[in-house]
Amino acid sequence: MPYYRRLSVDRQRELEGHIQVLLREKYFEGCGGLVLTDEVKVLIAGQASVLLLNREDHYFPWMRTVLVYPHSFVGNGRSVGPAGMVTEGPSWRQGESWYTPGSGGPVVLSWADTLAGAADAHDGRNLVLHEFAHQLDADSGAVEGVPFLPDAASRERWKRVMARAQGELARRWSMGMGSVLNPYGLQNPAEFFAVSVEAFFERGTELRSEFPEWYGQLEQYFQQDPAGQCEGCRAAQGVA
Ligand SMILES: [Zn+2]
Repeated sequence: MPYYRRLSVDRQRELEGHIQVLLREKYFEGCGGLVLTDEVKVLIAGQASVLLLNREDHYFPWMRTVLVYPHSFVGNGRSVGPAGMVTEGPSWRQGESWYTPGSGGPVVLSWADTLAGAADAHDGRNLVLHEFAHQLDADSGAVEGVPFLPDAASRERWKRVMARAQGELARRWSMGMGSVLNPYGLQNPAEFFAVSVEAFFERGTELRSEFPEWYGQLEQYFQQDPAGQCEGCRAAQGVA
């Protein structure tokens, strides 16, 4: 988990504490022949714990179970596509995050894609961050791209800034400019938040430069500044 090396010693200790809690509180299960080892559990809990640093203890209260398959698996759930279109039926998935109001739901992960996501801490692709971001989103009582925020004014501001950023992402892709944000985020606000979380932690400097206002919202919510932290770590290593 190369991301671990980007953290200060204090944050590394905090992360290790969160990992212990997640391993104790959550139930991990290997599916489709996957043998559940400590490596599997710690790598998943370690990446999920990045989302918890610097904030009040939280531990994804709606999620009690993590199911891990060896590779991509066939999902049976509904998926909501552009313009609200709902697709039913089986399809291959790298991961899923389930939430039912009042009872929550599991996170389901492909181990091969979990490993691939963790291997490069700067590519903006991270399956565990993505699926656990959906769980943070569920804290507000619905999965709509808005996590739990303390008051109505904060929620309104979040929605405004997020809508502007979504518009900017659509504009960039339609003009062939590309973006640090995966166009999968254009599916709906929940996916926009999840791909933004991947970019925030892994390509923070670029996200801050393309979407400064949206980066600021994420920085405030997560109480972390990966862009600044990355400049710090690169300077410390003498890398330009
Ligand atoms: Zn998603």
